[in-house]
Amino acid sequence: MDKGERSRIPFYYHPDFSGYDFGATHPFRGSRFDRFMRELVERFPAVNERLEMRVPQKASDDLLMAVHSKSYLERVNSLETRRGFLSPDTQLLPGSTDAARLIVGASVAATRASVECGTAIGFGGLHHAGPNYGEGFCIFNDVAVSVAAVLQEGLDRVLVLDTDAHQGNGTMDIFYEDPRVLFISLHQDPRTLYPGRGFIHEMGKGDGEGYTVNIPMPVLADWSMYEMAMAEIVIPLLDAFQPELLIRNGGSDPLFTDTLTNLGLDLDALTGLIGMISRETRKRNIPLVDLFLSGYGPYVTEGWLAIIRGILDEEMELVIPEEKDILPPFQEEQIEREMRNTLDKLKMILHPFWNVFF
Ligand SMILES: [Zn+2]
Repeated sequence: MDKGERSRIPFYYHPDFSGYDFGATHPFRGSRFDRFMRELVERFPAVNERLEMRVPQKASDDLLMAVHSKSYLERVNSLETRRGFLSPDTQLLPGSTDAARLIVGASVAATRASVECGTAIGFGGLHHAGPNYGEGFCIFNDVAVSVAAVLQEGLDRVLVLDTDAHQGNGTMDIFYEDPRVLFISLHQDPRTLYPGRGFIHEMGKGDGEGYTVNIPMPVLADWSMYEMAMAEIVIPLLDAFQPELLIRNGGSDPLFTDTLTNLGLDLDALTGLIGMISRETRKRNIPLVDLFLSGYGPYVTEGWLAIIRGILDEEMELVIPEEKDILPPFQEEQIEREMRNTLDKLKMILHPFWNVFF
């Protein structure tokens, strides 16, 4: 193995991820993974060369039970045999739990690899699955299982930065009382989107109080709002908490073109957000795991490529052939005021727990 070989970034993928599929009329189809891999290889061979493809293994019951209850695993198994529903939007079709275990295995492997290599990438982010529930197209919570695995292996401080448009209720619930895990979520205003959780006052409990930080983003929030949230809340917390590992999760659904959400990022902004996270962790020598699999509508692949572009800091020509609406100035000002108000309130309530906020 030469030097160039060693510096490639581990990327976990298995063709059987395609079994993670909720049926013909559902917005989440298993074909998204192969489609992305094809586009990556065909359009950006040089970028693909910088990635080292690794094959994951399915997560065992033991691994899953670090965050999910035994009774939940039993319920999942029995529902799958009769095509039952975990929630109205999440039906278990034959093979879907095996694919879910493979995704969890990939995220855990990527997380372990990041500790060795500095950065690793996987298809993951099933953040709506909690200790004893599954919903929002999520069967097992790969993010939480990955965190639990490295905590068991000796890490003491892990930061989960969830930038999916939907708030990560499952991950939040699993670590709500655990001060070893700082959970920060930037998501669309929960008054306007599933799961309807992630208000600023949801900030952890007991020993974990102050270690859950929810940043609701206004509808149509664009790059300037994300930049404010990152600069004023996320980066100061990164310095205050000094994590030994950062797991970022979230796919293309903060894009303005997403068909299930209402945020306002374009491809450059998504790249900018991921690039900022990547640079800030590298600067501080914090291993970074990047997980994505969400996104809805025609531009999921383009969004995921924008994420890769951010992690690798590569030139990649990406296009969404749809114009983003230019907002009238009064609306732009209104969104900015809303963001300002949220960030000021958040700093005030975080101040007792984190002395970086005044
Ligand atoms: Zn989402």
